[in-house]
Amino acid sequence: MPGRHHLFVPGPTNIPDAVLRAMHVASEDHRSVAFPELVMPLLADVRELFDTRDGEVLLFPSSGTGGWEAALTNVLPPGAHVLMPCAGQFATLWSDTARRLGYDVVTLPDTEWGDAPSPAAVTRFLATAKDSIAAVLVVHNETSTGVTADIPALRAAIDAAGSDGLLLVDGVSSIASLPYHHDAWGVDVAITGSQKGLMMPAGLALLALSSRAIAATAHGAPRAYFDIPQMLRQNATGYFPYTPPLPLLHGLRCALDLLNGEGMPAVFARHARLASGVRAAVSAWGLSLCCREPQHYSDTVSTVMLPDGVDGNRLLAHAFRRYDLSLGGGLGPLSGRAFRIGHLGDLNEGMLLAALGLIEMTLRDFGVDLRESGVAAAQSAWRGAVT
Ligand SMILES: *Cc1c(COP(=O)(O)O)cnc(C)c1O
Repeated sequence: MPGRHHLFVPGPTNIPDAVLRAMHVASEDHRSVAFPELVMPLLADVRELFDTRDGEVLLFPSSGTGGWEAALTNVLPPGAHVLMPCAGQFATLWSDTARRLGYDVVTLPDTEWGDAPSPAAVTRFLATAKDSIAAVLVVHNETSTGVTADIPALRAAIDAAGSDGLLLVDGVSSIASLPYHHDAWGVDVAITGSQKGLMMPAGLALLALSSRAIAATAHGAPRAYFDIPQMLRQNATGYFPYTPPLPLLHGLRCALDLLNGEGMPAVFARHARLASGVRAAVSAWGLSLCCREPQHYSDTVSTVMLPDGVDGNRLLAHAFRRYDLSLGGGLGPLSGRAFRIGHLGDLNEGMLLAALGLIEMTLRDFGVDLRESGVAAAQSAWRGAVT
């Protein structure tokens, strides 16, 4: 089809032309004396991205899933008990990863898809747990439901129970788009990936570890490729223990320059502003979000529930074939019942207006009775936000 494809899945996100160009590089010697000139400033800027002074940051060649595995195996001894208080597809997948690595994962039965993890429930559970819980795993922004967790409140909940559990945070669809403060929030390990807020292809997992988490690596589980102490020793002089994905490092350099050029506070404000317009559209259509509580609405992804009788999978296929529009599908129990709009990364109002317009046409094609125009509602929301 002529024209540009409209990519509105919540990752991988649109790659800016400058990042695409930056990745078009010839191979180079990653053992050369000059190589640290690329690596050292990159690690310094990744440290800023996670907002950590006390901790350490590192990059693994991997998607976010590998970041989960690296986080777990480095800081948790074999068989450790961990708590997963979140509900959603990524919470489920991270829990499965942990189980397959031999960890004992407990979930909270009262948390349902669309709910945010409850700090009070975490404190209650930890205060009465039979086994000592070595870590609490939290998905900061659950990309399947469009729910953003309150990380500082969850840290406080762990402390309130008198637990010395580590706090592990999946920030794959939040970091670089939503505010994130590793040290101030008391997070021990945070994970993100290159293909969401960082506007790159998949292939880099970025991690931040607190000094407590670094100390815990001395008593972790067996691991080889994802060994964090080995990576940190090499990174200290600007090198990697194995061949790093050079184009991705150059892409990351460019993406961080773009983000820092805009300014992280402005990046966060843009995501909040764009998300409010998307939510205005959903509400004008008369549809509802999967996320139940407004204070947990995600500013990077909105999961929209479809009216009964509309087949979400057919709707997505129609949007793709007829309008060149990619939306996220409903995941897990939401399959066929919801669609997701990714509004993170290299985006502005104009791009989102196109997406909302095409969604409106798609919904009408499927006979959904829309209350009002979502496009008009988004326009009003965004025009009102201009001062
Ligand atoms: C995208 C995503 C992941 C990572 O998935 P990969 O495909 O392995 O990069 C993990 N957690 C969340 C919340 C995500 O949105």
